[in-house]
Amino acid sequence: MRPGDFLALTNLPILHLIPPLNASLSRNISDTSTAYTFSRVFSSRDRKTLASTAMSRENAVIRDRESLERKTAAIRSAGASKLQVIADFDGTLTKYSINGRRGQTSHGLLQQGNTEYDEKRQALYDYYHPLEYSPTIPIEEKTKLMEEWWEKTHGLLIEGGLTFDAIKKSVADATISFRDGLVELFEYLEEKDVPVLIFSAGLADIIEEVFRQKLHRSFKNVKVVSNRMVFDNNGRLISFKGKTIHVLNKNEHALDMAAPVHDKLGDPNGSVDDYTMVKNRTNVLLLGDHIGDLGMSDGLNYDNRISVGFLNDNIEKSIESYKEAFDVVYLNDASMWGVVDLVSQLCPSNQ
Ligand SMILES: [Mg+2]
Repeated sequence: MRPGDFLALTNLPILHLIPPLNASLSRNISDTSTAYTFSRVFSSRDRKTLASTAMSRENAVIRDRESLERKTAAIRSAGASKLQVIADFDGTLTKYSINGRRGQTSHGLLQQGNTEYDEKRQALYDYYHPLEYSPTIPIEEKTKLMEEWWEKTHGLLIEGGLTFDAIKKSVADATISFRDGLVELFEYLEEKDVPVLIFSAGLADIIEEVFRQKLHRSFKNVKVVSNRMVFDNNGRLISFKGKTIHVLNKNEHALDMAAPVHDKLGDPNGSVDDYTMVKNRTNVLLLGDHIGDLGMSDGLNYDNRISVGFLNDNIEKSIESYKEAFDVVYLNDASMWGVVDLVSQLCPSNQ
């Protein structure tokens, strides 16, 4: 999630949609210590899913299976009206690697259509990116540096005359793709009226364009909370809305920014207070690809949280810390099918 990283790009084929997984399901959580296994009763139309699920099963690591089962049972018993999903975008909903190449981020894919300004943003990336990972810079100072980086980058996008057409072209040309099973996951959650908050330090307008171009559809339960652009009547960027959301402060805003989606979906308890609505959904499924993403549920006084981490690279180095941090860890750029299955347990189709 960084402003920079320019790579050559290719467009990807339209995702083929298959029906949501609401058919009769049965499951069995095995006794193996790490693998989260289950079985389904699949119709013939779900064969593709079966193969994909088997693959995702191989890639799942669980430190405390009993704890996961306990949380799953508690969330299922509370019902879908108590559940919300909070997800990171880059590297979580999107693939880390595409045909052997590193997938691009919502910031990284952007080509301004102005080489001078693309190079200026790249120069900022080259300067600030090492600072982001510096172990010696205190957090307060690093936060200021990240603010500086994001704001300078946003300034260059305005100064360089970014247009919405350039965003559309950048996305069309981008090496970016959603994990397999994402559509089915979102469809299932939509059917259950479970809100999905996508929280990102990238650019909301780009993320939404990625949804439009790669999925050709939107979901009424999905809300993107990220840096949002303001365009003039000619489709030229003139400003950004609200406070800059960068990599070190994105979690502070999660709860504030979540309110509108809960508002739109309505609330079974009939409250008019957005915060009450957010807080009434006291069970959380959190999806991220960095341990810091766990902070996305900060400020929410949840009853139960199941966290799913996608560990995409440096697996040997990071597996122990990810296992400690997340309830379920998916390895090797796994698909979303394991999460689809988890959600079908949290919100069974017959409820
Ligand atoms: Mg990410």
